[in-house]
Amino acid sequence: MFHTKTLNLPYLPQLEQKCKINLSLSIFKNGGDPMITQNLTDSLYSRTTSDEWVGAVPKIFRSAVDKVRDLVSSDPATNPHPPSRWIKQHVRTDHDDQWESQLQDLQVQSKLLDIIVLEDESEAWKCVRYSLPSGQLAFLIRAGCDTLPSPVNLARWKVQHDTRCGLCHQPRCTLAHILSACQKALTLGHYTWRHDCVLKCIARHLAINTEKSEQELLLRVDLPGMLTEQSTIPASVCTTNLRPDIFLQCGESRGIVGELTIPNNSTTNLENAKIRKSTKYLGLVADLSEHFEDVDLVTLEVGALGHYHPHDLMAAMSILMPGTSKRTIKSLLTDIVRTVVNASYTVFSNRRVEDDWAHKPFIYYHHDKRVYEIPI
Ligand SMILES: [Zn+2]
Repeated sequence: MFHTKTLNLPYLPQLEQKCKINLSLSIFKNGGDPMITQNLTDSLYSRTTSDEWVGAVPKIFRSAVDKVRDLVSSDPATNPHPPSRWIKQHVRTDHDDQWESQLQDLQVQSKLLDIIVLEDESEAWKCVRYSLPSGQLAFLIRAGCDTLPSPVNLARWKVQHDTRCGLCHQPRCTLAHILSACQKALTLGHYTWRHDCVLKCIARHLAINTEKSEQELLLRVDLPGMLTEQSTIPASVCTTNLRPDIFLQCGESRGIVGELTIPNNSTTNLENAKIRKSTKYLGLVADLSEHFEDVDLVTLEVGALGHYHPHDLMAAMSILMPGTSKRTIKSLLTDIVRTVVNASYTVFSNRRVEDDWAHKPFIYYHHDKRVYEIPI
């Protein structure tokens, strides 16, 4: 979690390293008296070798000093004083490489590497990390490196022997099972509730945009109180058994079908969900094409821990919210991430509770405010 591409929480060795880099930069950059430079460098080296309590830090720092010296002296004629940001970026990249090579060897913590790829791309956690309630932040941190007390982890820590799921009694209950694969949780409506909380969050933004729009827009969302017919696709347009989450009609000539999925949090699962949903609605798009000149199918995938492919989601939301600024869409994405994290945290906290969630109040975020809403 201290990895710079995930939560990037400040921690003592890193802060110390930062100070040392700044100091070494000032030594090499100012190019003062060579004797002072040498003495300062020697004292830095000697301090790091004698500081045993900081463990791995002396090594990291030593490489930082070496790096700074190499960068400054590599081509003094063309670049006598490289910008400190540039040097820090080099040192940071080295630092990340060290983290990643160590993580590769760790069986459990290596799962963090999956998150790092997604987080580097979407920065989902970075946009919500400081505004999450403390329980959820701890949940997010521990979920990222799979150190939450799932039955499999509790058995690994020798706290208990039973690795079965508290709801469906599947023999190996992992975090992924609890958050996305438990059949009993599915039957009890836990995942549907999470899905609908996120859909509610999106629908509220869409409804505001639809009202403001100068175009003639008709929005139908598969949520209680937002649907007057059996399906989101009006019977007057076409008859279908399918029930996509969103249908937006723009005048008489354009129809947009939207479908939201919250798969387990990994690049592969996000991509598979996209393919699965696109295939599912191919026939519907063909049927709608007989009624409308233009038909778009947009699939929205958000991982159970709040990650998404930003280009895909930004593009999908731009189609669903025509005329909306990028800034507004980014604010919606932040609301979505917070809603997903909150809902997954609730699903995890209730991993042994056999409650039916069909009428559980929705909890979602709207412009950073937490909203409770009882389904109609
Ligand atoms: Zn289960």
